[in-house]
Amino acid sequence: MGSITILAHFSPLMFVNFLLHNKKYEVMLAPECYYSGMTNNNWIKLIEEKIIKQSGYRIEEVEQIPLKLLAVRSGLGRYGRNNICYVDGMGSFIALYGFFTDFEFAEDNWQEVEMMDNCESCGICMDECPNNCIREENFVIDAIKCITWYNERNGEFPEWMDPNIHNALLGCMKCQMFCPANAQAMEFTGRFEDIPEEDTINILNGTTGEAGLKSSICKIFGIFTEAELKEYMPILKRNLSVLLQ
Ligand code: SF4
Ligand code: SF4
Repeated sequence: MGSITILAHFSPLMFVNFLLHNKKYEVMLAPECYYSGMTNNNWIKLIEEKIIKQSGYRIEEVEQIPLKLLAVRSGLGRYGRNNICYVDGMGSFIALYGFFTDFEFAEDNWQEVEMMDNCESCGICMDECPNNCIREENFVIDAIKCITWYNERNGEFPEWMDPNIHNALLGCMKCQMFCPANAQAMEFTGRFEDIPEEDTINILNGTTGEAGLKSSICKIFGIFTEAELKEYMPILKRNLSVLLQ
């Protein structure tokens, strides 16, 4: 037997300027879409020292698990009507991580899935979603129409999707920015260093030029290998192109 520990890390809404032809284009980066600077070892040390408070136990990151659902089931967070997980004090601006450990906790916090109280009398996200993904009659959003479903994957955007609705380099902020449960988190936005014109042009061409893995965009997204770069660049090229149009 063992346990899964779910951690939420505050991941503020970030902005970055792309420089091009003597102009600055401000672009949003949705929470969780950029590199937090925390490594696996940092998290493992934190769990050992602050949660288990003993050494000698196995602690390993587990991927491909439904982190949002587990965060809500464990009581760490609650769902918003937009099906995003909210954590008290952080809103939905979070990055979630899951770690397996063979340490036996005295109790678990397994509980029923809960929606935030704020959502009962609010429908702002429903009104703000440009693709009408969030529905009154069905709590589960129409994920196949969600911008995030498309802009975090390779491939062309579907023809039915209005090119003007894109709002972030990765992810979508429309149902989170005006959410009352994010009012506090919105006060802590951040900004990356401007992306120089040379890098902007390279991304629009789908390359990183001579800088390669040392380019500004690789630092933002924590792209450390050529394989990751190859995977991400067509996505960044496509997404930046629609935002700068
Ligand atoms: S905008 Fe309103 S309904 Fe939507 S998640 Fe936030 S509080 Fe809930
Ligand atoms: S992320 Fe964007 S497209 Fe998806 S539900 Fe929210 S507002 Fe709609």
